[in-house]
Amino acid sequence: MAFEYAPAPESRAIVDLAPSYGLFIDGEFTESAGGDLVKTVSPSTEEVLCEYTRATAEDVDRAVQAARRAFEKWSALPGAERAKYLFRIARIVQERSRELAVLETLDNGKPIKETRDADLPLVAAHFFYYAGWADKLDHAGFGPSPKPLGVAGQVIPWNFPLLMLAWKIAPALATGNTVVLKPAETTPLSALFFADICRQAGLPQGVVNIVTGDGRTGADLVAHPDVAKVAFTGSTSVGKEIARTVAGTRKKLTLELGGKGANIVFDDAPIDQAVEGIVTGIFFNQGQVCCAGSRLLVQESIHDELLESLKRRLSTLRLGDPLDKNTDIGAINSAEQLARISALAERGEAEGAERWSPACELPSSGYWFAPTLFTNVTQAHTIAREEIFGPVLSVLTFRTPEEAVAKANNTPYGLSAGIWTEKGSRILAVASRLRAGVVWSNTFNKFDPASPFGGYKESGFGREGGRHGLEAYLDV
Ligand code: NAD
Ligand code: MG
Repeated sequence: MAFEYAPAPESRAIVDLAPSYGLFIDGEFTESAGGDLVKTVSPSTEEVLCEYTRATAEDVDRAVQAARRAFEKWSALPGAERAKYLFRIARIVQERSRELAVLETLDNGKPIKETRDADLPLVAAHFFYYAGWADKLDHAGFGPSPKPLGVAGQVIPWNFPLLMLAWKIAPALATGNTVVLKPAETTPLSALFFADICRQAGLPQGVVNIVTGDGRTGADLVAHPDVAKVAFTGSTSVGKEIARTVAGTRKKLTLELGGKGANIVFDDAPIDQAVEGIVTGIFFNQGQVCCAGSRLLVQESIHDELLESLKRRLSTLRLGDPLDKNTDIGAINSAEQLARISALAERGEAEGAERWSPACELPSSGYWFAPTLFTNVTQAHTIAREEIFGPVLSVLTFRTPEEAVAKANNTPYGLSAGIWTEKGSRILAVASRLRAGVVWSNTFNKFDPASPFGGYKESGFGREGGRHGLEAYLDV
């Protein structure tokens, strides 16, 4: 039986939105040179939140030049001085975390429970972590006094807007680089609020610049000749395009792209714990997670039992107002993403997989997709091969560890995987054969700034987080 919960909405009064936003260049909000204003909406209601600016090539150039000028002094600061700014930013993020959590939930559609308990604490942790590295670079294993690269051009997606910003900006600043960052077109607001935090922290002007806009602005930034380092998180197709743009230049590149993670459950796994991990793996952030456990590989002998538990658990998930503190499943980020998810789910049905969703009422406005399971899925099915980036789980079976490993690795991606078993020896044996950047065992979607993250194959290259994450921003 599911409990009834009274509504528990978080107040949005804490967020003070301006009707429109300019670009954050050289330490202040400025008007664009001819860029148009674009609306950003709340995906859960389709309400227009405010307008922001689509930066033109001229604006991007202005931002890169500001970052270039700022680089001279910023890179020459002792690491301990740079660390002070990063510590200050981390503390301000903590102080303003409720405001930022509400803002992120409004602009992105994800539940407040997640922005409050996952996104924001991880954002602050990331700045604290890299603040700690800023004065220790000589001892990071990259030789004596490793040098920064210059201006980093960073393009991020909409699924974890502020967290991806933190993953990009914290290591760049700690190592002495300056930054021009472009947030995604559907979620520009937390980056604009972060600009204000930079101001509040007294960060020297030009060290961080935020240019909003769509793929055109991103392409202008990536192609700019004075950008020394490009960091991108997003789709594999855009990642390939960026790799082509950067090819033949001296720009250093890291790409964090899509995934089709396998979550492998062996017959000796604790079922209830595995069910929680499967739910976290694919329904956290509505499955709009590059490292989602979107392929469940379950040992044949426990398939029926596991599916029964999983369906029971899914029937208790609450979908609805993302600002409600009891909400488990929020809105899909955009109409385009919802259309992509719907099309792939229909494809799954058309190809013969069996579709199941719990009884679940969808709100009448906004972009919504019920948690969905597909059983009778084979490796040839589109839904077992393509990244859906939504709350859709494809269930496959296996009989032996060999078969599990072969199926898990049978993908062009290689970002994440999960292993559920009681045996430590099996965890080690299987994990060492999985071609995935992150392998979780008896847990899923756990993050820590000290732990490197990144992919194999078409999931990209380079690592973010940890000591490894410094390398992408150093001339080594
Ligand atoms: P996208 O790759 O198009 O967008 C990501 C970012 O890149 C955005 O800021 C966008 O403005 C920018 N961009 C787009 N075209 C660009 C270009 N030519 N040059 C430079 N920057 C460019 O992703 P999307 O359209 O928002 O989503 C499409 C699919 O991508 C999703 O369905 C999902 O499969 C995948 N995706 C993956 C991640 C991830 O974290 N790996 C994040 C978002 C989306
Ligand atoms: Mg939005």
